[in-house]
Amino acid sequence: MGNIVAVVGRPNVGKSTFFNRLIQRREAIVDSVSGVTRDRNYGKSDWNGRSFSLIDTGGYVKGSDDIFEAEIDKQVELAVDEADAIIFMVDVESGVTPMDEEVAVLLRKVDKPVLLAVNKVDNNKRLENAVEFYSLGLGEYFPIASTNGSGTGDLLDALIEKL
Ligand code: GDP
Ligand code: MG
Repeated sequence: MGNIVAVVGRPNVGKSTFFNRLIQRREAIVDSVSGVTRDRNYGKSDWNGRSFSLIDTGGYVKGSDDIFEAEIDKQVELAVDEADAIIFMVDVESGVTPMDEEVAVLLRKVDKPVLLAVNKVDNNKRLENAVEFYSLGLGEYFPIASTNGSGTGDLLDALIEKL
């Protein structure tokens, strides 16, 4: 039973906002695995008495929109190797993008729990719009708003059940 959870997704979907909301303290940055781990944020969190480590991926792109898809794929593959469970974050404001679809293709092949978090669900209209993410073929999704924490409780309930 592992306890490492990676948050993956394309830039600007709200991964770091989610990460910063959840972590209680930042862990020392580990770079023994490879140089790439230096570019990721690690933090500790817990939910209902269950502790876990959270990895915020893609920190090195600094919100850049023109990241190459290959870079995203690399981040996802690293996260999948390292993590026991994956939170795949997408953004209802922009809807399903080709990069989301590409990441979904990778994650559908993964033999670890993958939780689909549809972020920026700030109102009822966006809650309705979130249904389009069923098209990613990952099943049930969790509508959340990382800025105010709405929906994150249900996501974390499901997460710790799978850890
Ligand atoms: P990252 O690149 O995936 O780490 O995304 P960030 O956490 O840096 O967030 C990108 C932008 O989305 C920032 O301007 C955030 O304030 C915004 N954002 C994050 N979560 C939400 C949310 O729940 N609702 C809205 N409306 N904006 C959000
Ligand atoms: Mg970020």
